Amino acid sequence: MTLLEFRDLWVTYTGSRGRIPAVRGVDLSVGAGRIVGIAGESGCGKSTLAMAVLRLLPKSAEVSGEILLDGEDLLRMGWGRLRAVRWTGASIVFQGAMHSLNAVQRIGRQVAEPILVHERTTPAKAAARAEALLERVGLPSSRMRSYPHELSGGQRQRVMIAMALACDPELIIADEATTALDVMVQAQVLQLMTGLVKERGVGLVMISHDLSVLSAVCDTAVVMYAGRIVERGPAREVFADARHPYSAALGAAFPVIGDPASRGRPGGLAGDPPDPARLPEGCSFRPRCAVAVERCGEESPELLRVPGIGTVRSSACFVAQEGESVVFG
Ligand code: ADP
Ligand code: MG
Repeated sequence: MTLLEFRDLWVTYTGSRGRIPAVRGVDLSVGAGRIVGIAGESGCGKSTLAMAVLRLLPKSAEVSGEILLDGEDLLRMGWGRLRAVRWTGASIVFQGAMHSLNAVQRIGRQVAEPILVHERTTPAKAAARAEALLERVGLPSSRMRSYPHELSGGQRQRVMIAMALACDPELIIADEATTALDVMVQAQVLQLMTGLVKERGVGLVMISHDLSVLSAVCDTAVVMYAGRIVERGPAREVFADARHPYSAALGAAFPVIGDPASRGRPGGLAGDPPDPARLPEGCSFRPRCAVAVERCGEESPELLRVPGIGTVRSSACFVAQEGESVVFG
């Protein structure tokens, strides 16, 4: 069952640099009980896509297309309905979200508050739920009485994660949510989130620069480049056996994902993604691409199914669409 669906989503910021098309025609769906990973370098539009879901973008952002949650378009929803959806329908945790905690309110009250507001329950029951949630993200119940400044950054981030889970949302978007946590705590939080997916059929969108996390945790992965999805497929395959030269380069920078023989291959990718205000002609990746052909400078490739593979793989690369290898060399 489809829980979340982006249909031809475009987001353009207008600022001192002019018009910045940060997301350009994204189509993506997330099923209930499924985990979709989003990879891509900084600046490729991942957070813009995430924020568009709950209309958290600044006024300077012009949005078009549709974002359907259970078939209801979030972009055209009234503010009252949206406010309810923000806790019980879908919730987002950002990297550095801990800065949005209220400095003068105790942790327990902050976690319990959305439960009290959105569910008919007593303060005592809401507090008990808050305490259980804190425990599930690895914080002792004594933290209920702490103020944010008494916690470390990692602990505050975990409070934000507990808050995002407080009202049992159907959809969770984790935007580098566990990146700043130490490895043990990160594993615990990932296990908590994947548990919710399995047990309660929550849909999870996980944005991370850590491809080993994405390939371990996600069912499907998409790779974004310059505001577009350039590859989509089963997570492990996308990073270990890429069908777009950009995903191949990202995967090569994480040799642990690929086969042992690939470890000697020079990974990494020179340069940076293009400035969205000044995109190159044709394929946005062409200036950094080792396998580009003439056509790549003239036309922008659509995301199309790659032939000749058992699983459903899509790539926005003319070379891959011809069935040619796109591995760097
Ligand atoms: P990512 O999360 O993949 O790093 P972002 O969605 O944060 O990417 O950014 C995508 C592009 O949009 C970048 O070029 C960034 O500079 C630009 N951008 C992000 N937020 C704003 C904003 N508020 N105003 C103008 N440009 C923005
Ligand atoms: Mg981001």
